[in-house]
Amino acid sequence: MNKRIVITGGAGFIGSHLCEYFLAKSYDVFCVDNLITGSLDNISHLFGSKEFVFMNHDIANYIHIPGTVDYVLNFASPASPIDYLEHPIQTLKVGALGTHKTIGLAKDKGARYFLASTSEVYGDPLVNPQPETYWGNVNSVGPRSVYDEAKRFAEAMTMGYHRYHKVDVRIVRIFNTYGPRMRLNDGRVVPNFVMQALRNEPLTVYGDGSQTRSFCYVSDLVEGIYRLLMSDYAGPVNLGNPEEWKIIDFAKHIISLSGSKSTITYRPLPQDDPKQRRPDITLAKTLLGWQPQVKLDEGLKATLDFFMKKK
Ligand code: UDP
Repeated sequence: MNKRIVITGGAGFIGSHLCEYFLAKSYDVFCVDNLITGSLDNISHLFGSKEFVFMNHDIANYIHIPGTVDYVLNFASPASPIDYLEHPIQTLKVGALGTHKTIGLAKDKGARYFLASTSEVYGDPLVNPQPETYWGNVNSVGPRSVYDEAKRFAEAMTMGYHRYHKVDVRIVRIFNTYGPRMRLNDGRVVPNFVMQALRNEPLTVYGDGSQTRSFCYVSDLVEGIYRLLMSDYAGPVNLGNPEEWKIIDFAKHIISLSGSKSTITYRPLPQDDPKQRRPDITLAKTLLGWQPQVKLDEGLKATLDFFMKKK
């Protein structure tokens, strides 16, 4: 009997890579997605597999999965600032109600529960790099709060079910991740800069570009997720690439790597845009023996190839 895994947000960027990964490991995969930001294009190549089932469903509502379930991975949520500003209520509902429904499913089936949380729980951090022990600096009424607070609530609910109902849980805090299958227009910095560079249009740097981010290639993240899922550690674990880039330097790097004729143009910095972000991955290293393997240029080249076909 194959292990059976439910992956919510399975038609999204990270979710679709997870569906592929677990199918390759001979799991039966139930992919659940309501397609508000996910896309069938990300999973259409999996439909031929009899181990793959797709359910078009909003996990804020009761989820019925027939038979046994070994693992529930909750990756459903709009995840780019543009997306969660466009879908604020769905973002709040999927983070809160969707976590309630999916962890209820795990409890009912006796399955292990895995929550996709985020570096956004650290808000605009006053500590750099951010270790898991940092409690964060979140504006609870700012425009990003629909995502940040929903994910903080999701972590609280996950730990509540773990402590009270003894549900077996894992929590990952995902830092900026990039790679093929990001949506062209999701507004995040990698798709924006890559598409602008490929079209020889100006790269839109927000603010003066001195804010920092660190970029993890999706295959590294997926490997870390698998190791964390198989570990016996219930508390949150950061996964991300600790190489920190100023956004302005990142823009220049993409222009040079792609051989583009683009220039740089400056736009206003969005409200509450974190000034610095870099994961402290000491815990992932010691607990999981994990650290990113894919060099930035290698990952960016694969991403450029993907977006080239969309140009
Ligand atoms: N950013 C930018 N130009 C863009 C898109 C994003 O300068 O066209 C900046 C954004 O202000 C932020 C960083 O790049 O400082 C990363 O933004 P992203 O939307 O990818 O996600 P975030 O890390 O803020 O969640």
